[in-house]
Amino acid sequence: MEVSARKCDKCGKKNAQIRCSCGGRAEIIDEPRKQRIPIENIYRQALVILEGGGNISRLKGVKRMMNKTKTPEAMEKGILRAKHDIYVFKDGTTRYDMTDLPVTHFKPKEIGLSVERAVELGYTHDIHGEELKEEDQVVELMVQDFIASKSAGPYLVKVTNFVDELLEKYYELEPFYEAEKTTDLIGHLVVGLAPHTSGGVLGRLIGFNKGKAGYAHPFFHAAKRRNCDGDEDCIMLLLDGLLNFSQSFLPEKRGGKMDAPLVLTTRINPDEIDKEAHNVDTMWNYPLEFYQRAMDFADPKELMDIMETVEKRLGTEKQYEGFGYTHETLDISEGPKSSNYTRLGKMTEKMEAQIQVAKIIRAVDEHDVVSRVIQDHFIPDLMGNFNKFCLQRVRCTKCNKKYRRPPLSDKCTCGGNLTLTIHKGGVKKYLDTSLKMIERFELPDYLGQRVKQIEEQIDSLFENDKVSMPSLDEFM
Ligand SMILES: [Zn+2]
Ligand SMILES: [Zn+2]
Repeated sequence: MEVSARKCDKCGKKNAQIRCSCGGRAEIIDEPRKQRIPIENIYRQALVILEGGGNISRLKGVKRMMNKTKTPEAMEKGILRAKHDIYVFKDGTTRYDMTDLPVTHFKPKEIGLSVERAVELGYTHDIHGEELKEEDQVVELMVQDFIASKSAGPYLVKVTNFVDELLEKYYELEPFYEAEKTTDLIGHLVVGLAPHTSGGVLGRLIGFNKGKAGYAHPFFHAAKRRNCDGDEDCIMLLLDGLLNFSQSFLPEKRGGKMDAPLVLTTRINPDEIDKEAHNVDTMWNYPLEFYQRAMDFADPKELMDIMETVEKRLGTEKQYEGFGYTHETLDISEGPKSSNYTRLGKMTEKMEAQIQVAKIIRAVDEHDVVSRVIQDHFIPDLMGNFNKFCLQRVRCTKCNKKYRRPPLSDKCTCGGNLTLTIHKGGVKKYLDTSLKMIERFELPDYLGQRVKQIEEQIDSLFENDKVSMPSLDEFM
């Protein structure tokens, strides 16, 4: 395999792995090149260190490493993850995804938090300044506290078990979490991270909600560069990140450094986060004038004098606490527990459901909704797939070799037949749906003609254009 040559700084032995069998650390001494690696020995040695691999029945490898220095992770880590049934991301960390939801207040009972534990975590008083004694008193969420989805609990417990065993057997340290049940996770630190960004935000897990959501303060979501509109972000355990993350594992290719916690925000400064979070209002009730001016469709900016928002509190002690809200809820998990988007299967089903909602809401014109979906999603998808089809690679059916362009010989070097890697079905995916919708909602001709034009293009690609050559006689 292709790996960097390393040399142990203690015993001088050449090595493929970072940790030498003598316990020393092997540093890179040469560029990556193909070498013979005694993989079975490394595996057996790892099993000795781990005192067995548990019940692993199958080991899978990768064809090659994608990172620049071809740095492998310690095999012990992979074996332990398999043993604890958890998955690894390209940067060496293990994550759990949840839909972002903002929240500023909660009752301990809503998140499975006992009064004693809440007080220990610093929630000593409720919003009225009364001492916290009952689990249904409302308290204000601290800006870096995180309420995970209940579904994340068992998985995160497995991650803690993995980290603990790794600490004990591989690093020869004391276990850290010693968690058995999900409530044992309460009080531990996590890192929140949004896709396509490289900045993690430190948070503290304080409880679990019944939805598939990650409830956190608007500041927390904004610090991850999110505007709280239902995106899906992940959390990882801080210790997993500290032990297992490495920039060396990240793929060399463009975008390889995305989705990895290259920097970690340990303390949220409200002044540094997205302005959208500054627009959150912090009042206990709105003045009558607000409603009157709203009836006149006044520009929100004109009302800033009579409204109190986070922006006005920046730089003061009140920027972190003392926020108000206007309406009570019975339970923060009272709404839908999971999004219909994940429940509904095919795109056509999702589309029908969206049309149904558009029909019910008087303020929404379903014709406009359908036009927009076709224009902004289906047409770009059709065009994109059409292009991909034309530029696709071909694959040998015998040896699986891939070609960027079909070779002139029309055969693979091994003699096998070549086949397409993208098929007709993928190209035409949304064509029928688009055409049907255009007819059903009597959408504008212009949109209809655009889709018809794409259909003609696709047809001319897949079907023989039946142009019969007239013979010279016919002209005579
Ligand atoms: Zn050594
Ligand atoms: Zn071949």
